[in-house]
Amino acid sequence: MCPMTTPSALVPTDPSFAELFPPDAELEHLAGDFTWAEGPTYVAMRDRVVFSDVRQNRTWAWTDQGRLEPEEDPSHHQNGHCTDADGLLIACSHGERALLRQESDGSWTTLADSFEGKRLNSPNDVALHPVDGSLWFTDPTYGIDKPEEGYGGTQELEGRWVFRLDQDGTLTAPIRDRDKPNGLAFASADLLLLADTGADAATHGYRIDADGNATYEREWFRVDPGKTDGLRLDIEGRIWSSAADGVHVLTADGSAELGRIPTPEVTANLCFGGPYGTMLYITATSSLWRMPTRTRGLELRR
Ligand code: MG
Repeated sequence: MCPMTTPSALVPTDPSFAELFPPDAELEHLAGDFTWAEGPTYVAMRDRVVFSDVRQNRTWAWTDQGRLEPEEDPSHHQNGHCTDADGLLIACSHGERALLRQESDGSWTTLADSFEGKRLNSPNDVALHPVDGSLWFTDPTYGIDKPEEGYGGTQELEGRWVFRLDQDGTLTAPIRDRDKPNGLAFASADLLLLADTGADAATHGYRIDADGNATYEREWFRVDPGKTDGLRLDIEGRIWSSAADGVHVLTADGSAELGRIPTPEVTANLCFGGPYGTMLYITATSSLWRMPTRTRGLELRR
């Protein structure tokens, strides 16, 4: 077997980092001219990564055939995405202040837009619970505070919470102790990692019970420079986090950094995708990038 070499684009902290990539792996620029690229997710049934340009009010796709294709125009300032238990695209909409599902005919269904009679703030990012199929989404106020990221409006809820939408349609708010909850990812059925882009600027672990309740466990990690906006996990539990200088890869317990994938601009979010789930897609301010890996996304294991 050939000795492993570290691709020049990578910045290893731990020697094992190079093993996560093919020897000739390079960061590839796919598309640019965006203003704030965000919310990538791989939609397997459509062979594409869908992502947002929150500030240009559009969504786009990068297909497995290698083409940039328009999706929604206007997108009503969609931000984060995931797929649900049926593989359908789920979107956080700043403009509609709602969580949406795109049906197989392309039409959109509103899944949640209010809680106890009050409008949501501006859903930011969303994750599928790996066992019970519930959708967990964060609801900070960026889409109503920042004119370039939504249609304005007033905050009706008393806080910026994390919501859980049960498959039966029941909406609850299990996490209410964060400043600006943002990206989130399930490490397992009973562990949710939640990034806070408020003053705290760290990612925290919450234990999730079978009834959908959340209990704070501990701070999991923090990145430097910048803060975690979006994050994903690979099949071995490693954490892939956005940061101001690119993507940081950490051990599952968050205690050690393994290495970095530098990007020329601030990285907001990332996802695994492609036909084998091994391609890492990165939304970094004006551009969409990709990096081949030798692992795959945890959320793609189904
Ligand atoms: Mg976000």
